[in-house]
Amino acid sequence: MKTNATRRAAVPTHVAVVGGGPAGSCAALALAQQGARVTLCEALRFPRSRPGESLPPAIEPLLAQLGLARELAAADFPRTAGVEVQWGGRSERRLAGQDARGVWCNYQAERSRFDALLLRAAERAGVEVREGVRPSDVLHSGRQVNGLVLEGRELRTDWVLDATGGAHWLARRLGLEIEPHSPPLHARYGYVSQVVHRARLAEPRLASDDAGWTWLAPLGAGRLAWVRLRWDGVAEPADWQPAELAGSRPEGGSRGADVTWRCVTEPAGPGYFCLGDAACVLDPLSSHGVLRAIMTGLQAAHLIGQIRRGASARQAADEYSRWLRGWFEHEVAALRSFYRQISPETVAAGAF
Ligand SMILES: Cc1cc2nc3c(=O)[nH]c(=O)nc-3n(C[C@H](O)[C@H](O)[C@H](O)COP(=O)(O)OP(=O)(O)OC[C@H]3O[C@@H](n4cnc5c(N)ncnc54)[C@H](O)[C@@H]3O)c2cc1C
Repeated sequence: MKTNATRRAAVPTHVAVVGGGPAGSCAALALAQQGARVTLCEALRFPRSRPGESLPPAIEPLLAQLGLARELAAADFPRTAGVEVQWGGRSERRLAGQDARGVWCNYQAERSRFDALLLRAAERAGVEVREGVRPSDVLHSGRQVNGLVLEGRELRTDWVLDATGGAHWLARRLGLEIEPHSPPLHARYGYVSQVVHRARLAEPRLASDDAGWTWLAPLGAGRLAWVRLRWDGVAEPADWQPAELAGSRPEGGSRGADVTWRCVTEPAGPGYFCLGDAACVLDPLSSHGVLRAIMTGLQAAHLIGQIRRGASARQAADEYSRWLRGWFEHEVAALRSFYRQISPETVAAGAF
């Protein structure tokens, strides 16, 4: 005779993932690998562009765990060992890391290719990927999330994972609190090709000045990404570009992003997990956004597996929230102490 547990085990867990960036794709892939039925909807059609090319070497073992070591190597993204940091009047070269086997290298990964690599891997693993599709609503009774409305139809699922990035789609739908941890911060970013000689870099460079900081990262093939953030939180105008890039060819216009440090107070609850930027955002200087996206995806998939094997859903949600908030607070403290190395005259009073 079948017990409730064997009956439950026979029906695969059904998970809806909203957003196909690194958080959504990695969660979907890990869940499909453990036998779950996964539906992922992504508002855009891939390949789509995203800022954030500088990825730490720590992504490598995580992608290997997902069976993607060969794909990552084959993508042949440029690697750089260090970052030139000119900060508050001091100058140094910071290494990504080092062990007995040698120096570790960051990736300078074009996100359209990196993100597509992850999404296609999820699709190959059996995830139903619907591109160009946004949910029109979330199904829930009180705080319990039960599914989505997709293309006019109700999709009832055991879990909904919000991986929509800084839009915080689910948190906003459910009215969850999103706590700010910094004054409003606005980054401007852009790309250039045919970089003029004086701006050619072998490694990324971070430089502070009286008004803010500028990040330049070589992407290979004569391309370069730049990011600018001002201490006073004001967005640089749309035609702003780092002075050293004058004469290089801009690829389209620059864009802006709200990078105010913020965290969803309850990033997991009954029937839902918020992943990656949908759970918390830090400004690009943390340079761990993609790593956090991948790790939150893997952690949510792991906990859903444990719940299926009988663990308490409530405890799993609490564990996830504690883990994520602990990491976020650790990164906030590191960023604050880094920003405070700039003299008080240049950082707006109390801004950080
Ligand atoms: C200027 C800038 C520079 C950065 N530099 C770095 C860096 O060097 N290194 C680093 O690690 N991080 C960097 N980051 C942070 C990094 O970009 C993010 O942390 C990372 O992209 C988060 O991944 P994600 O999967 O959570 O979200 P995203 O990559 O934002 O993916 C979210 C996806 O959800 C989709 N979506 C949104 N709404 C909906 C909806 N309603 N329905 C369906 N789909 C939806 C979007 O189309 C998108 O594809 C930078 C950020 C900025 C703004």
